[in-house]
Amino acid sequence: WDMFVLAFVERLFRPTYKKDDFVLGKKLGEGAFGVVYRVSWAKKPSSKEGDLVLKKATEYGAVEIWMNERVRRACANSCADFLYGFQEKSSKKGSEYWLIWRFEGESTLADLIQSKEFPYNVESMILGEVQDLPKGLERENRIIQTVLRQLLFALDGLHSTGIVHRDIKPQNVIFSEGSRTFKIIDLGAAADLRVGINYIPKEFLLDPRYAAPEQYIMSTQTPSAPSAPVAAALSPVLWQLNLPDRFDIYSTGLILLQMAFPSFRSDSGLIQFNRQLKRCDYDLVAWRKSIEPRANADVRKGFELLDLDNGIGWELLTCMVRYKARQRVSAKAALAHPYFDKEGLLALSIMQ
Ligand code: ADP
Ligand code: MG
Repeated sequence: WDMFVLAFVERLFRPTYKKDDFVLGKKLGEGAFGVVYRVSWAKKPSSKEGDLVLKKATEYGAVEIWMNERVRRACANSCADFLYGFQEKSSKKGSEYWLIWRFEGESTLADLIQSKEFPYNVESMILGEVQDLPKGLERENRIIQTVLRQLLFALDGLHSTGIVHRDIKPQNVIFSEGSRTFKIIDLGAAADLRVGINYIPKEFLLDPRYAAPEQYIMSTQTPSAPSAPVAAALSPVLWQLNLPDRFDIYSTGLILLQMAFPSFRSDSGLIQFNRQLKRCDYDLVAWRKSIEPRANADVRKGFELLDLDNGIGWELLTCMVRYKARQRVSAKAALAHPYFDKEGLLALSIMQ
């Protein structure tokens, strides 16, 4: 109840906005459940700075508003800065939900890994001006390590709050130019297990490119949308039993894979990897044995990068991309993995 009272009091004192406060700009994205625009303030009092992002969502927007408000109170730095969400009655479509965030920056991790410059393009974004350091695998590894650490840090925040994202992929990771870190966006498919908000509409398909093999993160015995009080009492237990957070870990492992192997960064490359892994019964070690002997230069480079420091990167990858959810590491445990023992990007540039 405390949580509900707090939420209510917070709402009372927070400014409210309406349609006319915003001027629509460029369209940033369009999914099955909403359209996303860059917008600016119609009138610009001194307190309102910078551009915003608006998502006009269908009826499922209500859940996304709930998730964003919960994240703002519990783990604000994990996700894009959420301002406000409200219901907007539109004449033709019944009612829509409008969600407003601060515009965090121009690039998602998907844009960045598609660049030929990756990972060096990210290095300059995180550090600002970059000294003329020697390029090489070691340096690429440090950059990738830094991105992965930021992503796991954000994910640990969500999971500690009881939220599973369920749609972790480079398109849903935004580079925040203000804080120079990566943040998670798009809580449209997220589940809040502590209060039993765990709703995926039937039409919603998990992104097959990044989805763990279990597909449905709660076992079929678990009611899909239990009533709030019952769920609050039960869900820590359910969380332990089903480890639904490990669904996100699998997807994050695939992001590490894409960062390490240039050949799996394209859609077709990733789909091909998924097909190969499935053929090896989701056993990464078996997959490596099957493809390494006839690997091209790009693939060899990925293995070489993960093999640095006695294969510590490869070891972490195999802890994330596993068939059984309970055998995957948690976000918190992954952050404590020796892969992150060496200092990241900042230390590297100061040392040299
Ligand atoms: P969708 O349901 O269409 O996937 P998203 O929430 O992922 O909606 O947003 C779509 C796109 O809009 C993102 O991939 C990103 O490019 C951009 N975007 C979303 N939120 C922000 C934000 N806070 N700052 C900057 N760009 C954003
Ligand atoms: Mg998205």
